[in-house]
Amino acid sequence: MIICDCDTHDDDDDQAKPSRAKRHTVDPVPWAIIYYGMMTGECCITHCVAPGRFADQFALIEPDATDPERPTRETSTYLRRREVCMRVLKRAGGVCEYCGERGFEPHDSRTYLETHHVVPLCEGVPDQDSNVAALCPDGHRRAHHGQERSVIRAQLQAQFGR
Ligand SMILES: [Zn+2]
Ligand SMILES: [Zn+2]
Repeated sequence: MIICDCDTHDDDDDQAKPSRAKRHTVDPVPWAIIYYGMMTGECCITHCVAPGRFADQFALIEPDATDPERPTRETSTYLRRREVCMRVLKRAGGVCEYCGERGFEPHDSRTYLETHHVVPLCEGVPDQDSNVAALCPDGHRRAHHGQERSVIRAQLQAQFGR
């Protein structure tokens, strides 16, 4: 990503001049693709998150429109949530934050874990890193549907200080 510090275009000038950059600088912050639609080719990039060593259920495949954890795409809420998830995946480093198992490698050799809201957003908690855990697929299903789901929730809340 290159950011140029340019003169703004002069509206009074009939002759359109190419804009000229006085200064070029390289943005030191890494940029990463945080959304890629397999069917549409639509993608979104942002900065301040780790480039793709890790993937979750939303990064890997076309998001499932029926997934209750998936906000409507193309909103700032969605993009902010993607940033949170990418930071959480980086924090986990490819290891399930509940059971300590390493995530598997999908076809593109990233490490796959699923991002999970420890306290559901419908309970009115802020959408932030401390409320998101990176879990192995089995742990994620158990966090939602297992008999031990309240134990998992309590453990994750204690772990992240919520
Ligand atoms: Zn696990
Ligand atoms: Zn979940």
